[in-house]
Amino acid sequence: MIRNIWAVGRNYADHAKELGNAPPPAPFLFLKAGSSAVHGEVFHLPTWTEEVHHEIELALRFNENLEAAEVGLALDLTERKKQNELKAKGLPWTLAKSFTDSCPVSEFVPFQALADLQDLEIGLEINGEKRQCGRTSQMIFGLQTLIDFTRQHFPVSAGDLLLTGTPAGVGPLQRGDRLEAHLGQLVKHRWLVK
Ligand code: ZN
Repeated sequence: MIRNIWAVGRNYADHAKELGNAPPPAPFLFLKAGSSAVHGEVFHLPTWTEEVHHEIELALRFNENLEAAEVGLALDLTERKKQNELKAKGLPWTLAKSFTDSCPVSEFVPFQALADLQDLEIGLEINGEKRQCGRTSQMIFGLQTLIDFTRQHFPVSAGDLLLTGTPAGVGPLQRGDRLEAHLGQLVKHRWLVK
């Protein structure tokens, strides 16, 4: 069971820049409800949403010892219009980040060492067109730093996910879009947006 989804913001400089944000001096986290996770190959955009952006992210899963032992892909779906309104008012992002079905996830696979994840291509194609592409080596804060920071400050539970930020190229999704995401050769996943 996924109790919590700890999500890191602005962890790739080119993405921070595309949204007009300065790179953060320390890791910056927000929460997505564990129950916002959706498994499988289909997810639904809630009817009230107007502009849901895709953010493809490397996701780590914590095991019983609260070690990051498995890796997968997650879509940190974001209602960008709402987020911009909330940001402008200095309000929390919950509505923009933690709505129903806001975190589609792939299968997770075990890995040997974090070093194996530190220079992988991460990419997202929509309807056969490349939209997001980056390398995990471009993260501002590396995986070990993010894991340490999260465990130091938050009540991490077994099964929790840690989303590690998105590369540049975020943009809106439409119903009917077909998504294909990859993390090197380790993880591949497809989704259909409904
Ligand atoms: Zn994100």
